[in-house]
Amino acid sequence: MTEKTLIKGGHVVGFDAAMADILLEGAVIKAVEREISADGARVIDASGMIVMPGFVDTHRHLWQTSIRGVAADWSLVEYIRNIRLGYATSYRPEDVYISTYVGALEAIDAGITSLCDYCHIIRSPEHTEAAVLALRDAGMRVRFHQGFYDIPDERPVFTDHDARLEHARAVRTGMFAGTSPSDLISMGVALTEFGLVSIDKTRAEVELARELDLPITMHMGTLSTPDGVSRLRNGGLLGPDMLHVHCNASSDEELRQIADSGGHVSITPETEMQMGMGFPITNRALAAGLRPTFGIDIVSDCSGDMFAQMRLALQTARAIDNERVLKTGKMPVTIDLTVRDAFDFATIDGAAAMGLRDQIGSITPGKRADIVLLTMDGIHHMPPSPDPIATIVLQARPSDVHTVIIDGAERKRDGKLVGAELAPIRRRARASAEHLAAAISDAATRTGGTNTATVYAGAVTQATEAH
Ligand SMILES: [Zn+2]
Repeated sequence: MTEKTLIKGGHVVGFDAAMADILLEGAVIKAVEREISADGARVIDASGMIVMPGFVDTHRHLWQTSIRGVAADWSLVEYIRNIRLGYATSYRPEDVYISTYVGALEAIDAGITSLCDYCHIIRSPEHTEAAVLALRDAGMRVRFHQGFYDIPDERPVFTDHDARLEHARAVRTGMFAGTSPSDLISMGVALTEFGLVSIDKTRAEVELARELDLPITMHMGTLSTPDGVSRLRNGGLLGPDMLHVHCNASSDEELRQIADSGGHVSITPETEMQMGMGFPITNRALAAGLRPTFGIDIVSDCSGDMFAQMRLALQTARAIDNERVLKTGKMPVTIDLTVRDAFDFATIDGAAAMGLRDQIGSITPGKRADIVLLTMDGIHHMPPSPDPIATIVLQARPSDVHTVIIDGAERKRDGKLVGAELAPIRRRARASAEHLAAAISDAATRTGGTNTATVYAGAVTQATEAH
């Protein structure tokens, strides 16, 4: 018999009554009603808590967890030099495993139940295997977007672009055989950035993805190659299976083209504003008919905190709107963009961007059970804000995440991750950080360079020794 779970007496987001019960049957939400009695069901007491759908992170490079914080003061140019062309060249499969595993656990801990992992650290088939294994071990809903990006390597395993395409095919027919985009762990592809490869190679990547039924994502519209959308459109490649990330330098017309194509956008507010990509496109995306979604992007720079991303994006978008009025010499009388918008971008709109709108993103009977309980016990909820959505968007923190259920399985209970023994994980994460720090330090010595990475290599050693 399918196991039943009853989440009792919480304030369920999206349900009219002040309190409601949720009945789960296995991985599926069976009912949401004012009061449900279910004999034999396991009961989770949610009284005094907010019950919300899990967040959907539509863009993250989980492989960068081992180099947490190194990019704190870096621009995009420094990031590319020091990480994509620096640290990345020393990643071993075990670094990919522990980075991906810890990153996924960190996401679950913070109330993120679904995530698009943009994996462009594939130096060998073993690196791919390590990433996928880590995702399976973590147990979150994730799309593994395999990258084709060619990491500089003295002895490359993949000798050319075709070899990388063939590897993606092997992964699709091997580890991901028989899977579909709606499975708990599914596969997609991450296109190589425009400007690094010819449009013919981009075409080959897109055509392979479509042949293998794999959703597509890619970095889009940064200043070095602002016209990626037009390149795709001119090449007849733009499509509804594409999740375009950033788009800060994409024109309004290009955003409309994405909307017309049925594609989606992912905004990563914190990295975009820090690294010089430009203002997040929230307002322009909405004007173009797109619903924005949010990504954390990298914890090598910012936190894995979706609450923070919602806040940053919402208030920046409001500031941009307000500025338009202020420039006319008047004060804004009303605010258009609401906390509800920001909440939807982080949940149901993210689900739509993953092509899973009918499966996740809201607490609705028939959908998969990806559910988060937030405790209101903290002093920062004293007294609680009357509006649960406002509470989530503007007051709540990852430390409020009390329980996380993914596909019907409890992954966090009573504030603690389930099935993850932290001491050995911490040791492995530190060992990985130390290896990477030493490797980049060696590389800098060899080249006589004293780039920023060298300084950070020292800082990582000090930080790990201190704890
Ligand atoms: Zn990215």
